Amino acid sequence: SERESLQIINTFARDFFANSIKNSTEGKNIGLSYFKERGFTEATIDKFQLGYCPRSEKSFTETAIEKGYKQEYLEQLGLTKTKNDRRFDFFSGRVMFPIHSVSGKVLGFGGRTLQTDKKVAKYFNSPESVLYDKSSVLYGINFAKNEIIKQDNCFLVEGYTDVISMSQSGVENVVSSSGTSLTKGQIKLIQRYTQNITVLYDSDPAGIKASFRGIDLLLEEGMTVKVCLFPEGEDPDSFAKSVGTDELKKYLADNQKDFVGFKTDILLEGTENDPIKRAGLIKEIVGSIALIPDSITRSVYIKQTASQFDFKEQTLLNEMNVIRRKAL
Ligand code: ATP
Ligand code: MN
Ligand code: MN
Ligand code: MN
Repeated sequence: SERESLQIINTFARDFFANSIKNSTEGKNIGLSYFKERGFTEATIDKFQLGYCPRSEKSFTETAIEKGYKQEYLEQLGLTKTKNDRRFDFFSGRVMFPIHSVSGKVLGFGGRTLQTDKKVAKYFNSPESVLYDKSSVLYGINFAKNEIIKQDNCFLVEGYTDVISMSQSGVENVVSSSGTSLTKGQIKLIQRYTQNITVLYDSDPAGIKASFRGIDLLLEEGMTVKVCLFPEGEDPDSFAKSVGTDELKKYLADNQKDFVGFKTDILLEGTENDPIKRAGLIKEIVGSIALIPDSITRSVYIKQTASQFDFKEQTLLNEMNVIRRKAL
């Protein structure tokens, strides 16, 4: 079937890219060196099936065509592009991160440029295809699922390298939504294994903004949400590299907070003596609590927030009910 053919091609592509960093000169000099410079071990490179798409050596596309794979399928998978009747590799010159299904099938790829030029998109991702429905895929889920069950918790990060570095540091219950903003389908996938999630987005304005959006979506789906913020400018990859395994685990344990504590920390800055801003913060928190489907859980958080801000519980409950009624 078409689906089977596409799956065979993606598997072939993964092997071609992985083989390149092991056995070809360009792959070793450029791809493998890059991963080593980033501190990835051979075992990590093998586990995540990392690779390289050559630029000057014989291309992936020409190799695949010679093997008899249909150009139409190569294009459907986004591996091959054509311009003025000339075929070329979409991921040419990029290091490759295969994206797997829960059972480890290759659904698509992320490809990172090695250029530092800001005009070049840092990551290319495979397009959606018969195999790859972006809204229901999480990078790393196949490697993480057993550990998520064991820990009864899932760490959610932004990028491929965050998953890989945390895993190399011994924290294996970690997945990433890689480029797409978090979807319901991705949350449902996590909920097969746990109801508890800790959001570990990049500690920059974009990451904090994405955390806020992610928190509300996760709460709406009934998950128990914690957040851990890294020192400013760090992401889980850079932080994991800068400390040892034990320190990473200790940092996570000591710094994760429930979503109320996280929002308070972020929004409280500069509101100390400003009652209007303080009211805005409380409304913001109550707005998130209002999304939680379970009424007992809602009242627990309302109670906690009321005592934290020295507010009457009933006032917050009323506000929450107003928000909930409006949402209906
Ligand atoms: P690296 O550590 O390799 O520089 P990163 O994961 O820290 O990468 P971020 O800039 O923090 O990169 O972006 C987070 C994630 O968003 C990436 O891992 C990737 O999945 C996605 N992403 C980043 N840039 C792009 C882009 N230009 N197009 C599509 N997706 C992107
Ligand atoms: Mn970022
Ligand atoms: Mn990052
Ligand atoms: Mn990074």
